Amino acid sequence: MKLLFLGPPGAGKGTLSDLAVEKLGLPHISTGDLFRAAIKNETPLGLKVKSIMASGALVPDEVTIEMVKERLAQPDAKKGWILDGFPRTIPQAEALEKIAAVDRVVNFEVADAIVIGRLSTRRVCRACGKIYNVKSSPPKKEGVCDACGGEVYTRDDDKEESIKTRLDTYRKQTAPLIDWYGKKGVLVTIDGVGDPNEVYGRFAKLM
Ligand code: AMP
Repeated sequence: MKLLFLGPPGAGKGTLSDLAVEKLGLPHISTGDLFRAAIKNETPLGLKVKSIMASGALVPDEVTIEMVKERLAQPDAKKGWILDGFPRTIPQAEALEKIAAVDRVVNFEVADAIVIGRLSTRRVCRACGKIYNVKSSPPKKEGVCDACGGEVYTRDDDKEESIKTRLDTYRKQTAPLIDWYGKKGVLVTIDGVGDPNEVYGRFAKLM
């Protein structure tokens, strides 16, 4: 199964992907995670995208599309995948169409006020990417990942200035994809508010 997770930053796409990966056994391909890994490893790609990402803007389409093409050509992507955070623009969706046919696009609906609250309290493990929330699901020991012992930190783009840019970017560049995929007949919309297991239940019913 080839699935896309669509929704504003903080909609819970990453958290839901973690649950879906366990249950569906598909690889989770997050373009944000791929860029963060490149930054951490100081690769040429990482150096190119670091300041763009911290500002909350989008990485140029050609750079992103090339990276996704390479990732989807890996052997583990043959059986299907959950693409999280890609496409984020119409040109990216058009490029993906040439690579693979998507079975379902899951659109997570969450109001801006909730998204802003979630992002400002979100923390992430620098080593394994596990997602926490200091209010609703903190790590057992502050600043330390329960899963791998890595450092739990605040993403640069989860700081207040970037959150606003990311929401504006989402509205202008990514939200048009809801209609685009709607017209193709592959879109399902889910209420993304609530406990992750509850949201997963809504998702599972539609699969
Ligand atoms: P995410 O982890 O999905 O919230 O992505 C974090 C940041 O990575 C975004 O704000 C962008 O700067 C960059 N990024 C991730 N996916 C894409 C994409 N499909 N197109 C352009 N930039 C992206």
